[in-house]
Amino acid sequence: MSEKITFTPLSYTGWDSLSHLLDEVNRFNVSKILVVTDPFLKDIGLTNTVVEPLENAGYSTEIYTEVVPEPPLAIGEKLVAYTRDNEFDMVIGVGGGSALDLTKLAGVLASHEGNVADYLNLTGTKKVTKKGLPTILIPTTSGTGSEVTNISVLSLETSKDVVTHDYLLADVAIVDPALTISLPPKVTAATGVDALTHAVEAYISKNASPVSDALALQAIRLISNAIRTAVLNGEDKQARTDMSYGSYLAGLAFFNAGVAGVHALAYPIGGQFHIAHGDSNAVLLPYVMGYIRQSCEKRMKDIYDAMGFSSSNLSQEEASYKCVAELKRLVEDVNIPSTLKGFNITEDALESLTKDAIEQKRILARSPMPLQKDDIFAIYKAAFDGT
Ligand code: NAD
Repeated sequence: MSEKITFTPLSYTGWDSLSHLLDEVNRFNVSKILVVTDPFLKDIGLTNTVVEPLENAGYSTEIYTEVVPEPPLAIGEKLVAYTRDNEFDMVIGVGGGSALDLTKLAGVLASHEGNVADYLNLTGTKKVTKKGLPTILIPTTSGTGSEVTNISVLSLETSKDVVTHDYLLADVAIVDPALTISLPPKVTAATGVDALTHAVEAYISKNASPVSDALALQAIRLISNAIRTAVLNGEDKQARTDMSYGSYLAGLAFFNAGVAGVHALAYPIGGQFHIAHGDSNAVLLPYVMGYIRQSCEKRMKDIYDAMGFSSSNLSQEEASYKCVAELKRLVEDVNIPSTLKGFNITEDALESLTKDAIEQKRILARSPMPLQKDDIFAIYKAAFDGT
């Protein structure tokens, strides 16, 4: 069997990698740049560390701050219209997955006609057909891996959908851990477990390959080792650097191998209850892995080892049980509620969550254990009760 492996975009990683920005912008023949960011990042001066060197070099920049977490479709429509109307010739995204996803959308749809809704994966009628504006993505969370994927996620009323095409891949990613120092503990925890989930799901995915395995296991090593320190002491440079590399590797891993059951069940929680993507993944991670454990014991033994434990004296079955317990402990240690009740989700919501989750057929197809309606309900119930 052959597989397509994507290692895009050209990336700069590591402490102070932001210093490469100007040289990269200079490579493109551009003058008018739109910087997409969220208002908080502008207020704390973080956006300015990106914009200042560009302005000093004579580029015209405009900062667009109408980004909100888990951005609704309407925010995407507004940004795309603004980008088209103002004839920018480059877009730079500075922020978490929310800002980066919107930046990709603005970049590609600047060269297309119609509404963003026309290009949605599930309900749209138009296809992305050409490359858009040159795009540079600069993450400020260590989480989504959006800087290396071809997906833009949008929130609809009670669900989420994506615009996806390889033309959404950025030209350059700059993954500088220095930009994550200001992340508060709660966001560090949620985005960090999001990245861990990407790596774990890529590793157990039916589409996993030796390439995605290497990326996923190293991501699991880095994140499991660093996340508690990053949450407790956000100024720890080594922990921030490891989280940054971990989320970048996890992004590459899941972009190539896909995600599976945790994401399929997390999307409805985000859609119906507007809970942050990282939190909805985190609360489900131990329960989904516990439920599908038997279908991927060997792989869970590997994950247990990558988390820094030793399975040498354990059977695959024993190690897989311990892996689930350690995933649960990690989520608890970074202070994320460990049950759906903890997020004020009531038991009567489990039916409608199940109904939406079974629609995620493409994602569920990558689960090593087939997950039917009853399985999905049972997982939600376990996550509700904390059992
Ligand atoms: P986010 O972008 O929504 O940001 C969360 C919060 O953190 C915001 O309030 C933001 O202001 C704050 N923040 C960000 N960086 C900060 C910093 N350095 N210091 C202080 N505060 C900071 O969170 P996210 O988890 O990175 O992104 C979530 C979005 O990404 C969701 O819409 C999700 O669906 C999407 N997503 C996309 C992909 C993809 O491949 N495109 C993958 C996973 C998730």
